[in-house]
Amino acid sequence: MSQGLPTLDALEVAGQRVLLRLDLNVPLRDGEITDTTRIDAALPTIRQLREAGARVVICSHLGRPRSKRIPALSLEPVAAKLAELLDDEVVFAHDVVGDDVEFLSRDIPPGGVLVLENLRFDPGEKANDDDFAGKLARLGDVYVNDAFGTMHRAHASVVGVVSRFDHVAIGPLVDREITALSKLLEGPARPFIGVLGGAKVSDKIEVIESLLHRVDALVVGGAMAYTFLAAQDTPVGDSLVERERIRLAGRLLERCAARGVQVFLPTDHVVAESPESEEVQTVRAIEPGWKGFDIGPETVRRFSEIISRSSTVFWNGPMGMFEDPRFAEGTRGVARAVAEAEAYTVVGGGDSAAALHQCGYADQVSHLSTGGGASLEFIQGKELPGIRALRRRT
Ligand code: ADP
Ligand code: MG
Repeated sequence: MSQGLPTLDALEVAGQRVLLRLDLNVPLRDGEITDTTRIDAALPTIRQLREAGARVVICSHLGRPRSKRIPALSLEPVAAKLAELLDDEVVFAHDVVGDDVEFLSRDIPPGGVLVLENLRFDPGEKANDDDFAGKLARLGDVYVNDAFGTMHRAHASVVGVVSRFDHVAIGPLVDREITALSKLLEGPARPFIGVLGGAKVSDKIEVIESLLHRVDALVVGGAMAYTFLAAQDTPVGDSLVERERIRLAGRLLERCAARGVQVFLPTDHVVAESPESEEVQTVRAIEPGWKGFDIGPETVRRFSEIISRSSTVFWNGPMGMFEDPRFAEGTRGVARAVAEAEAYTVVGGGDSAAALHQCGYADQVSHLSTGGGASLEFIQGKELPGIRALRRRT
């Protein structure tokens, strides 16, 4: 058991068909997989099951087919890549559910692997449809969820299917995620700071609100910072400000002050007239016509120092438009500070994870969450629908 949930080690899988929910939502370009990180991450789980004599039935979503069969979003190339990485045969079912797929699932031998077609080709997946969940459940004897990034979705393969199994478990990837993220909720070592960035305040309001009850300080960068600076009447030129959120940002700052939570905002910026323009400057005050696309070097120093003095750090959201190397130094600097900190460090969010990889610090943090939206909901203390469904079976 881990966090009150049954783990794979305790599950009897020899000879059983294991319906394994994975997150194999890999990036594709022209039918080619451009990054196998998610497949690589799932390999130990698949190997563990095969070695234990399980008959492994893998299901996953891929992209956004909007409940239709889109050939370009077939999981077939993923199944092929999996066969290559496992150096063994992997059977691909050309449908998600149905009699033929059920036959295939009964046909695979112990240690064998079957991959189902993209779950989201079927409208029943996102609708958490009862009939679809029933059909999916017929493809396995026991159920294992090792797809943390989908745990916040009440979809059939995550929620609906679970109540149809007597024996369920979380896989090792999910176990690692919830163990690592739970440490932020249960008595984190202090000082505990939240480092937030990214594009929009509106995307992260709930995260900010829940963090301000638990952290000792908040460090805010990225485009989000401009809405906070605007709330303090600091001139931000033509930077990305969410006008309709300025009052909310002001109230959040007041609440932080009332709770004694220090808020650190950028004091210098890397600016340009537009992301395309050639001229880039580092300034303290942003003039009209200019936009901030990254935090400046002085801000990197201040933020890094705060990070180095903390005992627990949660970071979500890049400090600038890091996709452009001219605006990536702020994110790189903060990534380095987080990597070098002696603190317990957790990084969450799709772009934040990408940034950490890009900077080469991905293996130097205590935990890099792969969950995106799921990790952000988890650290708010919300019980994710997929976790709740599993808990009910135990
Ligand atoms: P995550 O996926 O880690 O939760 P977000 O999606 O919230 O992060 O934010 C990432 C995006 O924010 C990136 O695409 C980045 O380019 C953008 N961004 C950050 N700072 C700025 C800025 N100053 N101006 C424009 N875009 C920014
Ligand atoms: Mg993002």
